[in-house]
Amino acid sequence: MRKILLENFVKGPVTELAPAPDDAALAELAAALERAARRKLGRSLSIREVDAGSCNGCELEIHALNNPFYDLERFGLRFVASPRHADVLLVTGPVTKNMQIALERTYRATPDPKWVVAAGDCALDGGIFAGSYACLGGVSAAIPVDLHIRGCPPSPLQLLKGLLALLDMDKAR
Ligand code: SF4
Repeated sequence: MRKILLENFVKGPVTELAPAPDDAALAELAAALERAARRKLGRSLSIREVDAGSCNGCELEIHALNNPFYDLERFGLRFVASPRHADVLLVTGPVTKNMQIALERTYRATPDPKWVVAAGDCALDGGIFAGSYACLGGVSAAIPVDLHIRGCPPSPLQLLKGLLALLDMDKAR
């Protein structure tokens, strides 16, 4: 034990350094997203995240949007606990058969106008879980989807770009 402690003390941490934050790009994207939300909705965007059967890799990236590094609340974007308070359902994972009814109920509980964003390759078509006896497929197999954000998992910046593209879509609602 003493040997291990001594080795660790001499060698230091072996983990990789975190990537440098692209603060300017992040701030620009988040501010554009807030402006688009205010233009469309008259207020900031509320997002309800739904895990329909993901491996949680996508959740780690989505949670990162709220951590002190990205801190999206400073731009007025917020995650809400109830679909009744949400503008956007951000759905991850393949839709497992066990989650199908819960996802459909969540969709019905979200007031109009609403958008559904499927985040991650699994949410597009089942990804690496496609064909499993436990999965229905992508999110569109259960509810209508407005936008897919590719990636396994998509990075926080990709998620932000996707949300901005969603609000910029010229949709009559
Ligand atoms: S897209 Fe990748 S990270 Fe996201 S749920 Fe599927 S396997 Fe996991």
